[in-house]
Amino acid sequence: MSLNITQLDVSIEKIGILRDINLTIPGGEMASLIGHNGAGKTTLIKAIMGLLPATAGKIEFKGENLTRHASYSRARMGISYMPEDRRLIPELTVTENMLMPAWANKIKDGEERLKWIYSLMPEIADFGERKALQLSGGQQKLVALGRALIPGRELILLDEPFEGVAPVLAKRLTSVIADLRGEGLTVLIAESDDTHSADLVDATWRIERGSVSAGREHASASMD
Ligand code: ATP
Repeated sequence: MSLNITQLDVSIEKIGILRDINLTIPGGEMASLIGHNGAGKTTLIKAIMGLLPATAGKIEFKGENLTRHASYSRARMGISYMPEDRRLIPELTVTENMLMPAWANKIKDGEERLKWIYSLMPEIADFGERKALQLSGGQQKLVALGRALIPGRELILLDEPFEGVAPVLAKRLTSVIADLRGEGLTVLIAESDDTHSADLVDATWRIERGSVSAGREHASASMD
């Protein structure tokens, strides 16, 4: 299912942050959104997720204009987001953290999804009964990705997934994200540079001062 954003404006506290954003990701493809700190990546992801309202324009997914749907309803449509900070609940176990979005969004097949996620990332299953606070930062990132995959069965938005992650775990995250392609998910990866995502994505979008400044570009072309 493709994501089509047209003429999207987003303001925070009446200050225009995003202007006239036009961006498309065909269903089952991966795209990156590259921009410096403060360029507007998180704002765009939150607007797609419904955590910030659109002041103009459309965000269409599965033929629906998402701007008419509340955030929980977008989650139930299969859209999810991995925040830049991990936001795990430290006192809960890994499994409890993973199932939290299923409980919060009344997703019925959470346990089934959990099994699928554990098959993608068996290392998480190994520490499923540990409290989140007992994990390293990199392990917590993997759990945060797993948790996002509970509702995110169609479209997943990853906000700086590699930020602050040691190289060995960044490599692991890259391979898990690459596996998502085989599972048919549509993926948007926000990053400050394309070090980690260049080989993963079908297209790169650049965002600068609240505007998507360059259009679609095939990753294979940029590597020539
Ligand atoms: P970073 O990686 O640093 O988070 P980003 O590209 O994700 O960068 P955003 O967090 O989307 O950028 O921020 C875009 C702009 O919106 C910045 O100029 C930021 O200062 C501003 N902004 C974000 N949140 C707020 C807020 N709550 N109130 C006012 N301005 C905000």
